[in-house]
Amino acid sequence: MKIDFIGTGMMGSLKRGNSSILINDEILFDIGSGVLLKLKEMEKDISKIKYIIITHFHADHFLDIACFLLMRYIRKEQKELTLIGPKGLRQKIIDLMYFTHGDNEPNKYEKIEEKYNLVFKEVEEESVKFDDFEIQALSLIHSTCTPCNGYILNIDGKTIGYTGDTTECESLEKLIKESRHIFIDTTVMNTTKSHIGLSRILEYAKEYSDKTFYLIHRSDAIKKIEQENVIFPEDGDAVKIN
Ligand SMILES: [Zn+2]
Ligand SMILES: [Zn+2]
Repeated sequence: MKIDFIGTGMMGSLKRGNSSILINDEILFDIGSGVLLKLKEMEKDISKIKYIIITHFHADHFLDIACFLLMRYIRKEQKELTLIGPKGLRQKIIDLMYFTHGDNEPNKYEKIEEKYNLVFKEVEEESVKFDDFEIQALSLIHSTCTPCNGYILNIDGKTIGYTGDTTECESLEKLIKESRHIFIDTTVMNTTKSHIGLSRILEYAKEYSDKTFYLIHRSDAIKKIEQENVIFPEDGDAVKIN
């Protein structure tokens, strides 16, 4: 399995794009502002993307979906695309499309599934099976942004955990326990009500030394630390998991 790091930064980073990973060229986690440009720069064929999995509706995790849908439409590359995300996903995307491209046409996006060949799957604390994988959604805690999902992806016998933004909570602990490879937001040094701190993540990495932690959504203030099972990827890096 190949995982590309499309972006590894938090909003405001001068060095890195907003966090997003691409699995086997087909499954994209998060599509915040700037992710589309990064995909182009990395010469990724966006027509291969079959699933986009969104953690929450902050701009750094979700905003480029409007341009992504329009790009497919203009290129007439509209294979079926499944959008997975928290409750309210479909309406959020329709609202975004009206806001950015509504053109005063009141019913323009009522048939959004048909127009863009989409399937929506809104998930909350549940597991769902698709043709290529099974995914478990967990409700994380990210200050006032609710809902905010984390996910455990079961694919090709591997378990991948992905958080968009979260502070320390029971669901995060479950995500860490049940995943072998953990892609975790590392925004701050010390835990706040919105974000888990690097210091706590490093404790988890020591406790779960058989797991690999990939620190994404990093601020520029987070400096690399040598710890065997902790990786600090940069934009454009890729990892193969066997
Ligand atoms: Zn957020
Ligand atoms: Zn974020």
